[in-house]
Amino acid sequence: MISINVFLVHFICYWTMVYLYDKNVPTATFNRSALLSLKNQIFYTYPTINILFRYYPVKYDDLISSIGYLPLLVVTGDIYFYLTHRPLHTKLFFKYHKSHHTGKIHVAKSLDADGIEHIVGNLGSFLCGILLLQYYGYIINIYVLGFWVGLATFNTCLSHSNYNSELDNGIHYLHHKNLRCNYGTGLYLMDRLTGSYRSE
Ligand SMILES: [Zn+2]
Ligand SMILES: [Zn+2]
Repeated sequence: MISINVFLVHFICYWTMVYLYDKNVPTATFNRSALLSLKNQIFYTYPTINILFRYYPVKYDDLISSIGYLPLLVVTGDIYFYLTHRPLHTKLFFKYHKSHHTGKIHVAKSLDADGIEHIVGNLGSFLCGILLLQYYGYIINIYVLGFWVGLATFNTCLSHSNYNSELDNGIHYLHHKNLRCNYGTGLYLMDRLTGSYRSE
């Protein structure tokens, strides 16, 4: 039951953002991205969350300390996403990432990805901080975990809003525009460190 609830937080956030911001996307383009996103959510995201909760304890206490873990989840997710995303822009691997960069940026493109890319890159980036904390014995309160799911979903959708949302800072838009910058997500720490960060 808990894995269905957590999945629903992601699912409802995602499709609400699509409904709000994908207003003027050509139908064929929209349908293709929406179908791929849905395929990834049903065949990969839900099973991954389901497997996670077979090994991850559901915890209702430690709310305050769990809120303190959120910055770590943001930082590890950003670094992990950079490390798995940047190789996809090499000649060798771009074929697996091409679908995400085909056509104009719009919200339903957020999860338009090859299955392996979705599991390793997107889901891995969301999970790596959670698993790292678990490895060191820190379990996140279930409500904070649910909030993290919503935040990560909201962030990726906003970054693909094509400036239709005032909260979109356009950094990931620039990644789609020139393919040679801003490989991370959120804080873009590794891009800032390695010189691939662009803000205009
Ligand atoms: Zn890319
Ligand atoms: Zn993108």
